[in-house]
Amino acid sequence: MSPSADRSSGPQTGADELVRASAADLARRLAAGEVSSEDVVRAHLDRIAAVDGAPGDGRGVAAYLHVSGEEALAAARDVDARRAAGEQLHALAGVPVAVKDVVVTRGTPTTAGSKILEGWVPPYDATLVERLRAAGMPLLGKTNMDEFAMGSSTEHSAYGPSRNPWDTARTPGGSGGGSAAAVAAFEAPLAVGTDTGGSIRQPAAVTGSVGVKPTYGGISRYGLIAMASSLDQAGPCARSVLDAALLHEVMGGHDPRDATSLPDPVGPLAEAARSRDVRGMRVGVVRELTGEGFSSEVMASFRSALDLLADAGAEVVEVSCPTFAHALDAYYLVMPSEASSNLARFDGMRFGLRVEPSEGPVTAERVMAATRGAGFGPEVKRRIILGTYALSAGYYDAYYGSAQKVRTLVQRDFAAAHEQADVLVSPTAPTTAFPLGSRLDDPLAMYAADIATIPANLAGVPGMSLPSGLAADGLPVGFQVMAPARADERLYRLGGALEALLEDRWGGPLLASAPALDTVPARPEVATA
Ligand code: GLN
Repeated sequence: MSPSADRSSGPQTGADELVRASAADLARRLAAGEVSSEDVVRAHLDRIAAVDGAPGDGRGVAAYLHVSGEEALAAARDVDARRAAGEQLHALAGVPVAVKDVVVTRGTPTTAGSKILEGWVPPYDATLVERLRAAGMPLLGKTNMDEFAMGSSTEHSAYGPSRNPWDTARTPGGSGGGSAAAVAAFEAPLAVGTDTGGSIRQPAAVTGSVGVKPTYGGISRYGLIAMASSLDQAGPCARSVLDAALLHEVMGGHDPRDATSLPDPVGPLAEAARSRDVRGMRVGVVRELTGEGFSSEVMASFRSALDLLADAGAEVVEVSCPTFAHALDAYYLVMPSEASSNLARFDGMRFGLRVEPSEGPVTAERVMAATRGAGFGPEVKRRIILGTYALSAGYYDAYYGSAQKVRTLVQRDFAAAHEQADVLVSPTAPTTAFPLGSRLDDPLAMYAADIATIPANLAGVPGMSLPSGLAADGLPVGFQVMAPARADERLYRLGGALEALLEDRWGGPLLASAPALDTVPARPEVATA
């Protein structure tokens, strides 16, 4: 179903028009001197002040945990001055960006959505943040997320959930719901997310935005607070495929500080996004990621997008990846195992929170137990227990070892499918955005949100989600594209072409028809002066 035009409202003119513009358009207007970065940043801070509220206060989108208004304005003025002085600047110089709170930012609080890191101000920047700053992109703030990126709804954030701009009683997905909600609610033109099992793509799907998990190793993990190191990957969140490509290009490429960073330079992604040609491209529909377990409305939207691709000259085939049926099970052994080990560093000594036992001797072990008991939320504790068990002597081979074998089989399924198809496709998520609270007491239902996204993480291959339309409930549906490792440009080629075909049908971007948001009391730290 296509979006109905009469729901269109929200920001329209002046500063409001600036927050609706794409990053590509802002970049062009900044370069032409038609607008200053300061104006662009100010417009976004005003938008944040108007609709964001704050996590925990029960109102607004609550996309941000921390808004760095003064710093963003200072960075914008700096770019404007350099441009005025005739300096050669990066194409995205002056375009602001929001960053998921699991990515460390020098001088700006970083909590990963956890109480255990409350008040921690990192002394260094992640490599990807260094690259954003070097490109002259002002950082608007840090976005909300499930604690340590464990979750599919942002409801596991220790600071309260984010809300979906299409319906604020629903989740914007997770764990990176804040980044997706920020771009979907026009509170940032671009945002950075991380994706261990779907945390960029599933939030993109349920908010009608675009999200990309690059090939593992494509964007440096240096400065990401690790969840599961062999699966974690940062990537772009945007409102268009081209904008995602532009942000991906800024962040990607080799980093000697990440031992798993690929040697490759980042490919011509924006060029691929602009090519809009799918003639002869072999599109493989993954049988195991369609049909059963996916809502009929999600499937209808997916099928209608496939028809558009076929009409445009793509060759649509069906492929089978039988072991994908076991991917979720393998993920919930590999991920908690790695997370339980990574999270051992939060011991009450090194970062953030420190809780001393209320009685008895103050020993290192007892401080550690008190700190971890008070600082971690229930989902994080569940996974630490699960992972510690899976790794324990006697069970290691049966659990962790078996999961690693499944992982190898998933990789083989991808390789075999790619002999028949250049890209693989499926719906991104089995349903549209679910109501806040509806899955909190049912971890397995929460985990099922990632059934289609996890295989790409296990195999290290790239995946994208872009909107394919609205379901009958008026909520966005996501279309997933996957490609072989190091062939990220294929995502952008297929995604850019499909987006253009869909927007022709809709008469514009899907998000243009998102409902207007209520204004909420301004956040004190948002500088709009
Ligand atoms: N929802 C999945 C989980 O809870 C994926 C999270 C992620 O990609 N960071 O583990």
